[in-house]
Amino acid sequence: MTFNSVVIAQNEDIALRYAVKFFDANKCGPDVGENNVFDWRGPCHIEDGNSVNIDLTGGYHTDGGHVKYILPQAYSASILGWSLYENKNAFEFTDMTEKSISILKRFTDLLLKAYTSDGNFYYQIGLEGIDDVYWGAPEEQDSPRPVKVINQDNPGSDVLGQASAALSLMYLNYKDIDSAYAQKCLDTAKVLYKMGKENKGPYPVKEKYKSHSYYDDLAWAAVWLYSAEREESYLKDAVKYSIQQDLRGNDPLEHKTTMYWDDVYLPTFIKLMDYTRNTRYRNAVEQNLNHWQNEIKETPGGLKYLKKNGVLMYAASESMIALMYSKRTGTSKYIEFAKSQINYILGENPFYMSYLIGFGGRFPDNPYHKAANGKELTDKGKIKGPAENLLKGALVNGPDIEDRYINDGNSNRVALEYNASFVGAVSTLINNNLINGIYE
Ligand code: ZN
Ligand code: CA
Repeated sequence: MTFNSVVIAQNEDIALRYAVKFFDANKCGPDVGENNVFDWRGPCHIEDGNSVNIDLTGGYHTDGGHVKYILPQAYSASILGWSLYENKNAFEFTDMTEKSISILKRFTDLLLKAYTSDGNFYYQIGLEGIDDVYWGAPEEQDSPRPVKVINQDNPGSDVLGQASAALSLMYLNYKDIDSAYAQKCLDTAKVLYKMGKENKGPYPVKEKYKSHSYYDDLAWAAVWLYSAEREESYLKDAVKYSIQQDLRGNDPLEHKTTMYWDDVYLPTFIKLMDYTRNTRYRNAVEQNLNHWQNEIKETPGGLKYLKKNGVLMYAASESMIALMYSKRTGTSKYIEFAKSQINYILGENPFYMSYLIGFGGRFPDNPYHKAANGKELTDKGKIKGPAENLLKGALVNGPDIEDRYINDGNSNRVALEYNASFVGAVSTLINNNLINGIYE
């Protein structure tokens, strides 16, 4: 299918800048107003953790509501951290290195606070049921903010694995900037990994962000600990855990979905391609990429449609995997696929709709985001008209299977993990282009 629209592909640097800066909109804590591209954001939830006498302020609201769910938050930090670690030139090229480092540090500052020396790890701040009944700015919210915790009696290998990976990556990205802080990240990464390994199981969340796998998260943590320390036992663990089934009984080597907050088998395989000679990782990633090309449904406009909830996040994730794979193997087979998905997101689709807010001439103006919205809801709980504030750089959930963007209360969802996947895809594309001398 061909389109008359402007050539999007030359503007991916702008898209990366927008998508990185989006994270400022979801900042939480007393210092939200500092170094923030959105002047409509200010301090919020400055008493987080008070109920347990621990400072749990900071970090980010996970989506358009104000709860801080640490599993998707730590996942987002690990994907952003990996993006920066592997695609340094893309961040330099777009002048986003410093901003990305400050975003990553905000994530890890909260992860460091979430672990306390008595062996507790706080994996959620705020409660969906309480937060959902409040439709308004975070700065004015005074609802109670209960916290949830795991410890040696209650497992949470998934969230601990993700947090560990994010902290190891911060060590790698930050050791030349502030070695003491980086070391603290690595030390805590080891503690959290050990905690997740010694008491295996999924964390207890049964509602939003319910987990369906934890060996993947332990493997992801182990591979980054190995990357930081080159200690063989971590590589052995990563190899062992990476092929353990998920809780639904799926074989990771026959992977049928993609990378997201619940599933990091594929990025782990990519990293194990770097560190082992075993061809099963390459084969597993390749069969997954072929599955996407040949088996996954497609909209008439060419978007691969894994699932309605998170459709563009999945397409962005798979694009990142395709590009990381292409870089390692030298195959060009999957590059066009990745570009087609990224360009679709940015407006090369039958309705010329960009799903990155603020990018191009036409984009969703009604994201489900309480801070940006500034308006009342309809009596059916839908958003009335455009948001007061432009949520520039947010990737929304996406269109339906017929390429139509419908305001059904789901298509306009935004979340940290959506943007993390998109930053991952676009930064890898730019980095690969730089390696191949595409930009002159
Ligand atoms: Zn807040
Ligand atoms: Ca998992």
